Amino acid sequence: MSDSKITNQNTRWHEPTIKREHREKLNEHKGKILWFTGLSGAGKSTLAHALEEQLHDYGARTYVLDGDNVRKGLCKDLGFSEQDRVENIRRIGEMSRIMMDAGLIVMTAFISPFRRDRRIVRELVETGDFIEIFCDAPLDVCESRDVKGLYEKARAGEIPEFTGISSPYETPENPELIVESGNSTVEECVDEIINFLKEKEIT
Ligand code: ADP
Repeated sequence: MSDSKITNQNTRWHEPTIKREHREKLNEHKGKILWFTGLSGAGKSTLAHALEEQLHDYGARTYVLDGDNVRKGLCKDLGFSEQDRVENIRRIGEMSRIMMDAGLIVMTAFISPFRRDRRIVRELVETGDFIEIFCDAPLDVCESRDVKGLYEKARAGEIPEFTGISSPYETPENPELIVESGNSTVEECVDEIINFLKEKEIT
């Protein structure tokens, strides 16, 4: 048995007296995970940050977990093999869950191309806590934006298994919300998300 398993056997969950509901009451809004998914360049990061600015102005407590930033810290030991991608999403899911429990509206901006991985995070939390927002921008639009120059490199064969080019993107089957980030403005998409959050009485 590995050392980590022995250690786990000797740990015990400590039930906190201050719970999520108390923090939510103090914050005057619910904790949630808003999971942005879509191709590279679809607008996940842009929308998550623009939404955060608005929510912050309303006095909401928020945090954006951004793909590249996480890979520089929490997940810097991970690469892009299948096993590492799964572990990357698992850690982000756990981190999001903790932050939601802390009462925050957590926005995550990760391509997260595989349905199975998104389902893993969805199943980590209660029904209704995981809100999947599909940034639906067609590949040709994302490629023409090529924000980080990655499509050019992927087309040149310099990036193996690049989502949309040499690795699949599995479109969400039943996302809570779809924003047409390929042919709407950032403001229109953010308005749509804000309306959705109000409808669901999250903010
Ligand atoms: P991702 O995080 O999905 O890789 P980014 O947010 O980094 O994508 O880049 C999206 C690019 O598309 C930005 O340059 C942004 O200004 C532009 N853009 C144009 N319209 C939209 C929209 N409706 N939503 C989001 N981004 C948009």
